[in-house]
Amino acid sequence: MTTLSPVSTEKTQPAALSVAEKPSLAGLPRAALAEFLRGLGVPEKELRMRAGQLWHWLYVRGATSFDDMTNVAKTLRAQLSAAATLDRPEIVREQISADGTRKWVLRLPSRSAFDKGAEVECVYIPEKDRGTLCVSSQVGCTLNCSFCHTGTQKLVRNLEASEIVGQVLVARDRLGDYPGRTPPDGAFVPNDGGRFVSNIVFMGMGEPLYNTDNVRDSIGVLTDPEGLQLSKRRITVSTSGVVPDIARLGTETGTMLAISLHATNDALRDVLVPINKKYPIAQLLQACRDYPGVSNARRITFEYVMLKGVNDSLAEARALVKLLKGIPAKINLIPFNPWPGSIYECSDWEQIEKFSDLVFDAGYSSPIRTPRGRDILAACGQLKSDTEKMRARARLMLEEQLALGAD
Ligand code: SAH
Ligand code: SF4
Repeated sequence: MTTLSPVSTEKTQPAALSVAEKPSLAGLPRAALAEFLRGLGVPEKELRMRAGQLWHWLYVRGATSFDDMTNVAKTLRAQLSAAATLDRPEIVREQISADGTRKWVLRLPSRSAFDKGAEVECVYIPEKDRGTLCVSSQVGCTLNCSFCHTGTQKLVRNLEASEIVGQVLVARDRLGDYPGRTPPDGAFVPNDGGRFVSNIVFMGMGEPLYNTDNVRDSIGVLTDPEGLQLSKRRITVSTSGVVPDIARLGTETGTMLAISLHATNDALRDVLVPINKKYPIAQLLQACRDYPGVSNARRITFEYVMLKGVNDSLAEARALVKLLKGIPAKINLIPFNPWPGSIYECSDWEQIEKFSDLVFDAGYSSPIRTPRGRDILAACGQLKSDTEKMRARARLMLEEQLALGAD
């Protein structure tokens, strides 16, 4: 849970308080917001009402200035402006793909003299019937899956709940996704009168279940019925398989679950998704069978990246079907997205289709995820902030792979 103490505005404080030193209230969970107001001296009996007002301005109206909050007392507005901001993560770069996908590189405020302000990426994928925002849960990732760009990034830290919500606020700002706002040129306008950002997937940078508390709190803000009002069923959390936190995710958030499976036996999964050594496939699938609320109407998505000659044989497609027997499942085949220095190739299209047909004939929905935003490196697994240099790890792995191939 994020808690912030308001910056004191007493005259004994050093006079010039730079804006960056003030905390931002944008993205904060309700309890943290109330705590901040309490720190400002708002009387206990008014706290709920005042927090509710701020909540409405922040999450329904998308206010970016305390001055907009016309029903909040002027004195409180002045106090708020003196002590806090409504800053979103800073947009370092916005890229728009030929297919309408947008990628934002966002700089988070620094948290100490040693923290230069980490960067994360966030991707918006417009489709005919929905707009999906892919958010990051960590800066970088500690897990080192061998086919993933994010795992090569050195700097890793957990995002606060407010920094996760901040990504959604940035997207809504840039898309003009608030009542009464005119969307900027080029924004995707839903043709069913729906929301611009209707779905959220935790499939950006990081392992959400290594940051479960903040992910849970951010989902609390995103789904609040008096705020952003996103549906739990339209939020999907993808994990590489942090087994101990899977049940908790279900009970504490009720969101949809996606599992990055990518292999059908432990020997291969140990190499592709090394967390498998700690929580092997049998344990992972048991956690899926036990996932709270799982049913045919709420299936678990199994993600399977298609790596040429590595995991894409029809024998593996059959093994996949066998493995998932009895679990309400959808299988999502992801064509591998190459990145500079990656050691794998994407399976041939023909092979992906054969694999998909076999899985489909066995009764599973098996869409092939159309790569989106490849031209701006916004596709799955291509995310990595540019500030970090690629590690020598990728090169080492290439050498290992070549050595294996030579045997
Ligand atoms: N850490 C979480 C969520 C982020 S990754 C997880 O691993 O599930 C989101 C998805 O993209 C995962 O299924 C991941 O395995 C996949 N992915 C990673 N790198 C990829 C690449 N280069 N090409 C295609 N998919 C990739
Ligand atoms: Fe981390 Fe997911 Fe990438 Fe693995 S695939 S390195 S868990 S972000």
